[in-house]
Amino acid sequence: MKILIINSGSSSVKYQLINTSTNNVLCKGLIEKIGEDESFVHHTKEKEIYENKEEIPDHSNAFKRMVTLLMDQKYGPIHSLNDIDAVGHRVVHGGEKYSESILINEDVINEIRKDSKLAPLHNPPNLKGILSSIEMMPDKPQVAVFDTSFHQTIPPHVYTYGLPYDFYKNYGIRKYGFHGTSHKYVAIKAAEFLNKPLENTNLITCHLGNGASITAIKEGRSYDTSMGFTPVEGLLMGTRSGDIDPAILIYLENDLNYSMPQINNIINKNSGLLGISGYSNDMRKIVKKSEEGDFRAKLAFDIFCYRVKKYIGAYMFAIGTVDAIVFTAGIGENCIPVRESSLKGLEEFGIIVDKNKNRNLEKGIITDISAFNSKIRILVIPTNEELMIAKETETIVKNLK
Ligand code: AMP
Repeated sequence: MKILIINSGSSSVKYQLINTSTNNVLCKGLIEKIGEDESFVHHTKEKEIYENKEEIPDHSNAFKRMVTLLMDQKYGPIHSLNDIDAVGHRVVHGGEKYSESILINEDVINEIRKDSKLAPLHNPPNLKGILSSIEMMPDKPQVAVFDTSFHQTIPPHVYTYGLPYDFYKNYGIRKYGFHGTSHKYVAIKAAEFLNKPLENTNLITCHLGNGASITAIKEGRSYDTSMGFTPVEGLLMGTRSGDIDPAILIYLENDLNYSMPQINNIINKNSGLLGISGYSNDMRKIVKKSEEGDFRAKLAFDIFCYRVKKYIGAYMFAIGTVDAIVFTAGIGENCIPVRESSLKGLEEFGIIVDKNKNRNLEKGIITDISAFNSKIRILVIPTNEELMIAKETETIVKNLK
């Protein structure tokens, strides 16, 4: 099947057309700065690259532009929209209702709209993408794949915060978790690699990118994850603080006169690697500066790795036995010192990195970087959220027939 994957953000639309029989990406693109003076269109089909500044006033026009590129004689892999079998949409929040991907209908649209209060920055632009896609391709099956759905198996004693219970009952305040599509994808790949049925596999999956989260997977299902009600909780991230004492925020407001919008900005955009180093949210730059002896860059690096280690330790106890620890996403797949440092000194717990394998792994393929005597396997697995969305969409569409 040819499935169009859409990731619609507040000012951008990312897309890929995937052939699910071969897992090949037929073309992909990014339309950025939608609604600004000069939008930017970037589209590639194999070696053909189209880049241009254009006027794209809104999401609806972004979709029209995408469709013309998909069918372009030079840049497009298809001749007509009839060549597309279905559209899969990344949707950040599915609330408690969606533990699986779902065919989009009026009820689903209303539910995604309702969940916008839980993800005000993400669900509204995701919905804009869905509505523009339906407008352009009203006859195609459209499927929503949620970042939260993989984590709907987390049990109540793990997802409930220590707040008055009514806050959960009345306002839906609980741990939801994010990056579910990536954690699920690498879990499936890890089980295949280990040659075990997924339902008999225990994993700790570390999605370490600009946003970062770790998931404890017990018998193939998410049991705990480091992100919470929002994606701010947990690990140190590029610009997000991760775990902090919530009373700090009250102190900032009451005693230091910061406004709530300022505090929101601080914990989401000015903290993490960027806030601590005062330099960059890019781990490559942090590593380089840290190796040059910069104190704050080293501190940012150390905090990042310490938290990864701490969550791995906590999750080992939470799920009892672990078949493999998986590293994925920009930092997890590419950053040798983060993997080395996060797992340093864990030999007694059966976690032993083969330094050679860690340093010399081939990009883009699944690699076991554990030493021969490591009880727990350590895997580097390239994530592919778009392919996961395509596969989920395909499964739903096949079941329609
Ligand atoms: P993602 O959000 O998955 O795209 O990951 C983005 C993060 O991956 C950024 O912090 C990048 O600095 C980091 N990254 C990408 N390549 C490397 C690399 N070779 N070494 C260290 N970090 C990397």
